[in-house]
Amino acid sequence: MSDSTATPSARPDPLERRALIVLVDGDADWRASAAGALRGHGYDVVACGSLKEVPREALRQDISRAADLLVVDAALADVATRRAAVGEDQPASFGDCPVLILAGARDDDAIERALEADAADFFIRSTHWQLLVERVRRLCHMADMKRELLASHDRLARAHTSARVGTFDFDLGSRTFHGSTGSFSILGFDSPRTAISADEFLRLVPRDRHEALFSATDHAIRADVPFALELPLRKVGGDWMTVRVEAEPRRNSNGRIAMLRGVIRDMTESVRAERDMERLISADPLTGLPNRNRFLALCTEAVAEARRHGRQVAVVAIDLDRFTQINESLGQVAGDEAICAIAERLAGELARLAGSGQCRGDGRPGGGPGSEAAARAEAVLARLPGDEFAVLVPMVLDLWHVDAMVDALLRDLGRPLTIAGTECFVTACAGIALYPRDGDTAGLLLAHADSALADAKLRGSRSFRWYAPAPNVDARARLKMLSGLHKAIERGELSLSYQPCVDVVHGTLIGVEALARWRHHGMVVPPTEFIPLAEQSGLIVQIGEWAIREASRQIRTWRDQGLRVPKVSVNISTLHFEKPSLAETVRDAIVEHRLEPGMLEIELTESCMVRDFSRTLGALHALRDLGVVLSLDDFGTGYSSLSYLTRLPIGKLKVDRSFVRLLGVSAEGEAVVRAIIALGRSLRLQVVAEGVEDVAQARALLGMKCHAMQGFLLAHPVAASQLPEEMARIAERARLASDRTAPARRARIGSAYHGVVQ
Ligand code: C2E
Ligand code: MG
Ligand code: MG
Repeated sequence: MSDSTATPSARPDPLERRALIVLVDGDADWRASAAGALRGHGYDVVACGSLKEVPREALRQDISRAADLLVVDAALADVATRRAAVGEDQPASFGDCPVLILAGARDDDAIERALEADAADFFIRSTHWQLLVERVRRLCHMADMKRELLASHDRLARAHTSARVGTFDFDLGSRTFHGSTGSFSILGFDSPRTAISADEFLRLVPRDRHEALFSATDHAIRADVPFALELPLRKVGGDWMTVRVEAEPRRNSNGRIAMLRGVIRDMTESVRAERDMERLISADPLTGLPNRNRFLALCTEAVAEARRHGRQVAVVAIDLDRFTQINESLGQVAGDEAICAIAERLAGELARLAGSGQCRGDGRPGGGPGSEAAARAEAVLARLPGDEFAVLVPMVLDLWHVDAMVDALLRDLGRPLTIAGTECFVTACAGIALYPRDGDTAGLLLAHADSALADAKLRGSRSFRWYAPAPNVDARARLKMLSGLHKAIERGELSLSYQPCVDVVHGTLIGVEALARWRHHGMVVPPTEFIPLAEQSGLIVQIGEWAIREASRQIRTWRDQGLRVPKVSVNISTLHFEKPSLAETVRDAIVEHRLEPGMLEIELTESCMVRDFSRTLGALHALRDLGVVLSLDDFGTGYSSLSYLTRLPIGKLKVDRSFVRLLGVSAEGEAVVRAIIALGRSLRLQVVAEGVEDVAQARALLGMKCHAMQGFLLAHPVAASQLPEEMARIAERARLASDRTAPARRARIGSAYHGVVQ
């Protein structure tokens, strides 16, 4: 018989829910007194003489009115099977409900059996009600905590599944992969699994990657260090995917490494976005040839390879003579057709020369198609903007062969071409630069090849020249500028201009970028001129330190004036990241000017990754640990691989303005920007578009859901003193733009910016 005051039924407000105790004891008097004592302490109690009388609902864990604690006579409970004969016929499970055993003073055996079978605690039946209540309170509290833990575990698992991340433990003894729901969903298991054998896991990994996986895990275990590995995987359903596995060895209680614990992350979307982007940003859409970006990247690789082996690399710039005449007389479409025909002709001639070994620059027969050495050594043709092409000769043993190659290319171009039914004659000139003689970076080699090309142009069509530095004039001017730059900081000639970055949808200021200006002899030297010089001379480190201090001082001044500038970003050169002092400079500036670290942002470029990556990574982590935001500038112009990108602790990515400029110009351009934005999103970074100059670009970006923009359309860089005015203008625009009742006023403002948000 059940003497209950609490009928198990769902309660509307879980916050008001009192703990429900099911009390089962054959002694009716004791039961009634115990129930009274518990009720007196705020518990709901269902008291029964036997388990059969317990209402089934009270033991069902899936309803809110389930018991929080079962207090049961040791003689009545079959704790070992965690089942109770409930109701008329079938037994019901009391599964996870904690059990407090009631026992007599001499029931040692029953107590021991019950505890072994997982009862939570015992109470020697007595009238010490305070003691009973305390024990019940403790067990209810523990049950609450366990429920909370399970709920947060469940929340975490759901978050992981939606972020395509899972956790796992790989047990080295049993060679079993124990994974979270997220892990198994990534691996494509439909039915719920919690563990699979190592062999089952390996069946998903292509055979040729087993070795990489074994050696990474073996090394991690032997050296007791974490490891990270990107792997292609064939999901259970057969689809291919890319995952990143990060794990570290864990020791058991004996101190031996017993498992690898880690996370598995689905990288498929990011890898796809990167591949699309790489394809789009590395090829010229008209001819399909590598574009300038790709050419520079290949050239950088060739220079690095040549440096290792003490070899030479040639860069040839080719420019068509009077090509504008074709465009003007036959039209743009015919001009495009001509560019394609010329590209084909150059590629054909290079292939012919490769067959004879000539365009490898060493004059020896080629290594045959498919040979890796030949592939690396063969010349690469690229299309630069306009009517310019470039050829990279990665391995030059004899300069004479480069001469012969260029001569052959120019001569072959001279053959008549039929464009739009008209026979045309195209001629070209070329300039050549050589690594290491004429420069040691891709950019410099191409610039010097261009300057040799300009020289060749002066000598008439079909001529070509090797780069020859202009005697000293250039060098002297540079030296003068450098000595001026050395004194610029102490003379106070450097200053920072600030360009706002705006959330165009809400019209809010996201932050400002600090851009260096040098006032020298009454003229403003643009950063594009003095920053490269400062980089070459190493002076850029001092300039970077000055910029951090100056920007921090300015933030404090604005703060003191009551101006809320959300964030100021400072550009830091690649070289500077290799100096251990960088984080210190930032920390000192933050402390000196009492800034919250989130107010300072550091912009770095992709070239950081090409240099000493591990050192750069260390510097970036040190900065991030200070709370400074890191942003990857000019994104897309460098050559960052996804595996580097994912390891950078960056929070923001700035799409270079050379891509933004393509918006509205070509479908390919649009696809490039879309791919960059998708990549940024898949890496969960904030994406900012740089160099937004017109409404069409801004609209296109909004269509791609890129709301953060920087560019002349929104605001030019201004002196610190003008920023309050600029901010007021941005705020006013936002107010007017959101004021839907004042179209006339909006139109009066006539700002292009309104055209964007309307
Ligand atoms: P950045 O970091 O990409 O800065 C943006 C540049 O784009 C700035 O040029 C800015 O004036 C310009 N810009 C902004 N909106 C537009 C637009 O709509 N159209 C066009 N055409 N340009 C726009 P700026 O100030 O000449 O700086 C050029 C580069 O010099 C910067 O590019 C940055 O790489 C470097 N730089 C500037 N200040 C510093 C500095 O303090 N330290 C270092 N290491 N580099 C700096
Ligand atoms: Mg920048
Ligand atoms: Mg930039």
